[in-house]
Amino acid sequence: MEKLAALGGTPVREKKLFYGHQYIDDADIKAVEEVLRSDFLTCGPKITELEERLCKLTGAKYAVVCSNGTAALHMACQAAGLGEGDELITTPITFAASANCALYCGAKPVFADINPETYNIDPKCVAKAVTDKTKAVVAVDFTGQAVELDELLAICKEKNITLIEDGAHSIGTLYNGKPVGSIADMTTFSFHPVKTVTGGEGGAVLTNNEDHYKKLQLFRSHGITRDPYFMEKEPEGGWYYEQVNLGMNYRMTDIQAALVCSQLDKLEMFQKRRKEIVKKYNEAFSKIPEVIVQKEIPESDTTRHLYILRIKPELLTINRRQFFDYMAAENVCCNVHYIPVYRHPYYEKLGYPKGLCLEAEKLYSEIMSLPLYYSLTDQDVDDVIHAVTKIVENTRKH
Ligand SMILES: *Cc1c(COP(=O)(O)O)cnc(C)c1O
Repeated sequence: MEKLAALGGTPVREKKLFYGHQYIDDADIKAVEEVLRSDFLTCGPKITELEERLCKLTGAKYAVVCSNGTAALHMACQAAGLGEGDELITTPITFAASANCALYCGAKPVFADINPETYNIDPKCVAKAVTDKTKAVVAVDFTGQAVELDELLAICKEKNITLIEDGAHSIGTLYNGKPVGSIADMTTFSFHPVKTVTGGEGGAVLTNNEDHYKKLQLFRSHGITRDPYFMEKEPEGGWYYEQVNLGMNYRMTDIQAALVCSQLDKLEMFQKRRKEIVKKYNEAFSKIPEVIVQKEIPESDTTRHLYILRIKPELLTINRRQFFDYMAAENVCCNVHYIPVYRHPYYEKLGYPKGLCLEAEKLYSEIMSLPLYYSLTDQDVDDVIHAVTKIVENTRKH
C-alpha cells in the first residue's frame, strides 16, 4: 500500500475525530444517581415512565423496553410467530442483528438488495424475495432515513407478512409526517452509545397491536406472567405466577431507563445539530464530482444517525481502503457501515454466496462513515470537509 505521507503536509487536525460519540450532561448523571438512591434498580417506575414517553414520542399505542436493540429484534420476531421453516427478508446493509434475529428463532434470513441511491432495502427486491414461507420483513432505516414504508406495508399486507422496522438509527425520524414507531407492525430501537439517544445499553419495541404487546412482555421476562390474560390455572394465592412459555431475561434496568428518559429531553437539540451537520456535509460534498451524497426521499424527515461518504473510485487513483487510511492520516477516523451481513464467515458457512446482492456489495466497496454526533463543533465539521477535499484533490484522475 502507498505510504500515507504521499499526500504530504501536516494533518488537517491534531486531535483524532471518531464517527460517533455519546453526549452526557449533568441532568443525565443526576437522573441515574436518583435511581441508585431509590428502592428500584430494575422493574421499577422508570421503566413505565420510559415506555409512556416512547409512546408519546412515536404515537405508538404500546412500548416494551428491553436490554438492547438485538433483544428488541428477537422479541419482535418471537411475537410475529417466527419459527422453524419460516423465512425473514432483510437488507444486507445492516448490523448483523437484523438477520441474526431470524436465526435465533430457527428461521432463515433471506437478503433482498438495496436501492443504490437511498441505500435502503428496495421494495421491488423484497417483493421478488417473498415465498410461501416468508413470515416477516425486517426493514432497516439505514442512517436514519425511513424505508419506503407505504410500498413495504402494501407488500406485507397482501401476503400476510409482519413488517418489523429496525429503527436502531431512526429515533425522531418522520415518514409522511408520522413518527417512526407508529407505522410498521412493530418498530425496534437501540439505545447503544453510538445511537442518537443512549442508555449505555437498551432497546425497545413499539407496536399498536395488543396481541404483539402481550407476547413481547411475556418473552422479555422468562415467559412468566402474573397477568390473568395468560394464566392457564387458577391462582393459588397472592404470590402466584405462571411460566406459560419459554422466554428470556431481556429486561432493562431502571438505571438505564432513567438515562434514556433524560436523553429524550435533549432529543430535539440532538436532532437540530445532526441536521445542521448533515446540511453542511451535503452542501460541501455535492460540489465534489468524485463523491456521492446519499439520496433523500421526500417522505422521510430524517434525523440522521450516520453520514455516509461514497466515493467514485473510477474517478480517483485510490480505492476506498486507501481513502479510509488517508482520512485516518488526517486524524479523521471513519468507520464502514456495513460489511454485507452475508459476507461474514458465519453466513458464508451457512451457504450464502458472494454476488447475492450486487448493489449492496458495490456500495460496501465505496463507502465510509464520517463523524456525526451532537458535540461536533463547526471547526470539526470543517476539518472533515477539508480532509475529504484535500484527499480528492490529490488523488483525482486527470
Ligand atoms: C445498533 C443496531 C442494532 C443492535 O442494537 P444493540 O442495542 O447494539 O443490540 C440493530 N440494528 C441496527 C441497524 C443497529 O444499528
